[in-house]
Formats: sequence, C-alpha cells, structure tokens
Amino acid sequence: VPGAGGGADPDPGAGGVGAPPLVCLLDLAGIRASAAALTSAFAAALPPGTPVLHAFAVKAAPLVPVLALLADAGLGCEVASPGELALARAAGLTPDRIVLDSPAKTTAELREALALGIALNADNEQELHRLDALVARAPAGTALPPLGVRVNPQTGAGTIGALSTATSTSKFGIGLRDPGARARLLRAYAERPWLTRLHTHSGSQGVPLPLIARGVREVHALAEEINAEAVRRTGRRQVDTVDIGGGLPVNFASDDGTPTYEEYVRALREAAPGLFGGSYGLVTEFGRALLAKHGLVVARVEYTKTTGGRPIAVTHAGVQLATRTVYAPASWPLRILAYDAEGRPKGGPAVAQDVAGPACFAGDLLAEDRALPLLAPGDLIAVPDTGAYFFTAHYGYNSLPRPAVHGFTVGPEGKTRFALARPAQTPSELVAEAGGALRDALRQA
Ligand SMILES: *Cc1c(COP(=O)(O)O)cnc(C)c1O
Repeated sequence: VPGAGGGADPDPGAGGVGAPPLVCLLDLAGIRASAAALTSAFAAALPPGTPVLHAFAVKAAPLVPVLALLADAGLGCEVASPGELALARAAGLTPDRIVLDSPAKTTAELREALALGIALNADNEQELHRLDALVARAPAGTALPPLGVRVNPQTGAGTIGALSTATSTSKFGIGLRDPGARARLLRAYAERPWLTRLHTHSGSQGVPLPLIARGVREVHALAEEINAEAVRRTGRRQVDTVDIGGGLPVNFASDDGTPTYEEYVRALREAAPGLFGGSYGLVTEFGRALLAKHGLVVARVEYTKTTGGRPIAVTHAGVQLATRTVYAPASWPLRILAYDAEGRPKGGPAVAQDVAGPACFAGDLLAEDRALPLLAPGDLIAVPDTGAYFFTAHYGYNSLPRPAVHGFTVGPEGKTRFALARPAQTPSELVAEAGGALRDALRQA
C-alpha cells in the first residue's frame, strides 16, 4: 500500500515526510471482471445483435479514471447532474454512451443534452412539457437523442427506506398505479412520437431481486401496451428500448459476490421473458454492484483507550468516507479487518471494541462493540466493500480532506503495482474551496 502504515514509510516517492494515515484502494482486475460479468450475463440471455448499453451510474464512483477504465470494458455512463455529465465527457465518453437521469433537470440542462445528443429520461409530466417546447424549437433536420420517461412501478419498499425508489410515494418518476396515470402515460406517448424509451430504476441496496424483477415486468408490460396502440394508430412500434435501471444489491457480509448478474438476469427473464426476445434494446444502470467489492480503505490506528469499560480505537477512517454507515449503522454495516503496522493480519483473542473515526462528534464510529483482536496505536484497519458510495462520496465534515485513491493490479510475478486515481486533497485546496480567496469579502460588504 503506497504510503499507508504506522511504521516506516514504504513509499520512497513520499520523500520520508511520514506516511499518510489513510489511503483508499481500487482493485482494477476486480472492476474489469465485474464489467465483463455484467456484459456477458446479458449477452448470453439476448439474441445476438440486440442493442445493449450498460451505463455505469456515475454517482457510485465519480472518478474520471474509473469511468475511463469502464469505458474500455465497453460500458457507458448514467449521469444525474451537470458535474457527472462533465466527468463522463472528461473520461472520453461519446454522447451515444451517456444517459441523463435526474429528477431536477433545468431547462438549460435539457437544452444542452438535446444539443449534445445525450439520451435522457424525463422524470415527470412538467419536464415532458419543457421537452415539448425544446423539441418544437429544435432546428429542422436535427436528430433528437433517444428520449424516455421514468416510471415508478410502485411495487414497494426494500429494507432501506432511503434507497427504495419504487414505493407508492417515491419522489422518482411517474407513479404507474396512481389513478389515471396509465392512461395519461399512454396519451403522452401517443402525442409524442419522439418518446422511444421507457425507464425504471426499481431497486437498490436492500431491495430483493424478485421485487426488482416485478418492477421491470410492469415497465415491460407498459411498453407493450404503448407499442400495441402505436401499431394500431401508425402501423409502427414506438418504444424500442427499455432502460431497466440498476440496483443489484451487494453482499457486505463476506467476500462472496452474491447475488450475481446471472441471477439478476434469470430473475428478470422469468418475470419479463418478452424483454429478452430481441424486440427491445436494453439500457442498464448499475453502480454499486460494479464497484463496491473492489474498493478497500486502509487507515492507521492513531490512539487507543478504554472509556467506561469500552476499548476504543481512534482511526483516520470515519464519517468523511463512510457517511451512511456512521449515520445509519444498522442499514450499512461494514466489515473491519485488523492488521499490524507491517500489514500482517493481527492475531489474538477477539475483544469487543469501538472503531472510531477522526471527526468531532460522538457518533463517528465505523463499528460499535465489534469483536476484533485488540487494536494498538500504529496498527492498520482495512475496510472492504467500499468501492462505491463510500470514499467516492466524500463528506466534508471537519474539513477532513478527500483521501488519495490508488488503483492496483497484481502482476503474474506477484508484484503489486499502484496507479494514482485521485490525489489526496491538500490543505491549500481545502482553503481555496472554503472561500480562501475571499477573506475580506464579508468585511467589506
Ligand atoms: C443510483 C441510481 C442507479 C444505480 O444504483 P445502484 O444501486 O448503485 O446500482 C441507477 N439508476 C438511477 C436512476 C439511479 O438513481
């Protein structure tokens, strides 16, 4: 691990200024293997030649080198903000490999997406009306990108309320079961021949596969209904692509990568066989399932103490990189692995202890009352399964810096090679982001 550790600095490039107390790692072979598993699970289930775009949900790991790595593996990007769109473009993705979803697209964002030729899914009827105006004003002869509507199948919640996108009152998409909604959607498509896609994202962590599959089945049934009407009216089908979203849950309890993409495809095929017949192109939007198992945090134990009878290890990994775990520990438990200062697995009897982060509030704990070999200053903790939505979704509490992210590969001779994917944020960068150049601005106002 470049620069991590409590002992001698193993990174000569650091010039002996002391090891950084925290590094984040991405297993590049693992990421490539996940992308290949996703691609082949769908390819094996679809007739050859069926158009498929696997658009990585950028919010899971918004790092340009990661997006470029996934692009090499044939993946696109699903973006949900101007920033994420800029990252996808910086990674070299062409507009035909980008999908824009967001519940709050401004008119300017919609206009830019249309001008660039980026597919997008409207979240609601008001957004459709904005699109009407933009489409009407598009210069004659310009091709529109693929446009769709996000629907909420309202199939119900999983175990984590904040991540359940298909409840009856979810903020996303048009609720398919609301009174009159289905008829309004059919009319919306009949009036807009340029709507050629349907979108849903009905699952996420905590949502079981059968529930995700049921949501996709509902959306496929709606696509069939829209197409039957279109054939009756015009002799031609209208919806050519179904965007089935992402949301494959990740196993945070062990190294097993379950459920697999094959199991996901099997569940989908059983629920909506017509989606795999080749008459629809598919877009997928997986985030967590592609990256989570391939990220690792390594942090130094700075101090240890016992308070009220509870051993506590104070480390450098806390709320800044495991925000959900700290604020909602029951929904987002993480494994903690204990190593000594040289990186050897730590032995000894398990002792219940708290693993705390560096932030100045009492709840900043990665694990509470966790049985681990008793940690000592200079030891290392490793936190696996953190490749998505953890260190890539930095939380700036206490002005804690974004830690460096290194990709690694292990060569055939067993030698590990590292490549920097994101530099650690420096104090002067923190000052600049905190209005450092505006020191006197309020005084003079
Ligand atoms: C977050 C999100 C995804 C990815 O979800 P994962 O659980 O990371 O797979 C896909 N589509 C949309 C619209 C999203 O908001």
